[in-house]
Amino acid sequence: MNLYHQYESLLSAEELGYVAKAREFCTGSFSESLLAAHMAGKAFPERWIADWAAIGMLGLQAKRAHGGLGASYLCKIRVAQEMAHHGFAAAFCLNHHQGGATRLSQAGTPVQIEHLLAPALRGELLLTTAMTEPAGGSDVSALTTTATPVNGGWTLSGTKAWMTNGLLVGGLIVLARVGDAAGAENIASFYVPFGASESVKRTEVLVPGGRSFRLAEVAFDRHFVPDWCLIAPPGAALKASMTAVNGARVHVAAMSVATLYAALCEAVDYCENRQAFGKPLTGHQGLRWELAEVSIRLEAANALVFRAAEQIQIGENPVGLAAQAKKFAVDTAIWGIDQCVRIVGATGASAAHRLNMHLAEVRMAAYADGTNEMLLDRVGRGLSSTYPKSIS
Ligand SMILES: Cc1cc2nc3c(=O)[nH]c(=O)nc-3n(C[C@H](O)[C@H](O)[C@H](O)COP(=O)(O)OP(=O)(O)OC[C@H]3O[C@@H](n4cnc5c(N)ncnc54)[C@H](O)[C@@H]3O)c2cc1C
Repeated sequence: MNLYHQYESLLSAEELGYVAKAREFCTGSFSESLLAAHMAGKAFPERWIADWAAIGMLGLQAKRAHGGLGASYLCKIRVAQEMAHHGFAAAFCLNHHQGGATRLSQAGTPVQIEHLLAPALRGELLLTTAMTEPAGGSDVSALTTTATPVNGGWTLSGTKAWMTNGLLVGGLIVLARVGDAAGAENIASFYVPFGASESVKRTEVLVPGGRSFRLAEVAFDRHFVPDWCLIAPPGAALKASMTAVNGARVHVAAMSVATLYAALCEAVDYCENRQAFGKPLTGHQGLRWELAEVSIRLEAANALVFRAAEQIQIGENPVGLAAQAKKFAVDTAIWGIDQCVRIVGATGASAAHRLNMHLAEVRMAAYADGTNEMLLDRVGRGLSSTYPKSIS
């Protein structure tokens, strides 16, 4: 019984085929290139994105009528886990793009489906949602980027920070304020094509060890956005993003579980084969118990994440459970991978292993899609309804 048997028992034969194809793709030269890029302090090679498109990974949940595979949320998670086994950042970049593609397929206008979704599924255009600004990310409703109505569209001014895939994208799905009022009511979202305009300036957010996220800050100065690019009107954009964030949180949690699983397997294999004091490292009870402790927490994280993922699969919006899953899985992965780096000895920190790369990349998951404090807040607010005095 593999770690993911609960997911896989709910997938169709066709979906299991997509997972198998992803596993085959991720093993081998793709996997090696992720590690080589990390060791060189670079992002993973861009050329892989065309290969992701060729096997349908970019539009897993997009409708078949739009050129997607029409797969389920659980299938999308399993595919991402196959990639996260080899590199968390690459899987995170894939997932960000898929989130935009799924939303466009579900709610895009015919023009957006033709001009955005179709090239997005071919890998010619990457999608990233831009909420965070340099002055803050957790308090999204305080964002200050503005969209001013003009003839034929809007002009956009403001700066977005920490854009995943930001160094590659030719545009962003931007949340911006239409009008002066504070709060969520006047926040709309737009696809903002950069074009060759001088009104867009992009700079890298340099994160040593995390360059595969291709993080960028993008500043707009009265940048023109055509009419057809409105994604969600004022009042609807923040609500749509907050609903989608629960699915994204569970997704990140599931990928963190996969990366921890990979690290544990690597550490166990090494410790089985490395000798000290006349026997394999795993022959020493003290060290074996340390690996066992990691395995226990991995299994617990996996079970919690599956419970949350199953809820999303059936159309629920489990705010508290998604927050619990993301916090526990990410904390557990960071702790567990760090244990693995240490347990195998000095070599664990070297280029001979993937462990340090896993640790550096999963570390970033603690910020994206909700910091620990934000997640605890979501859980805390639902305590009395989730854990009432009497259970009906
Ligand atoms: C790898 C990566 C990829 C990302 N990709 C994207 C992307 O594609 N698009 C995008 O829009 N954003 C993206 N982000 C940004 C991410 O969403 C933000 O980092 C996150 O929302 C937190 O915002 P902040 O970093 O500005 O922290 P802040 O909001 O400034 O918070 C700083 C600290 O204060 C704490 N804090 C804040 N408010 C409270 C409170 N009320 N009570 C207690 N503690 C509080 C926070 O938990 C945190 O520890 C990405 C981030 C990373 C690391």
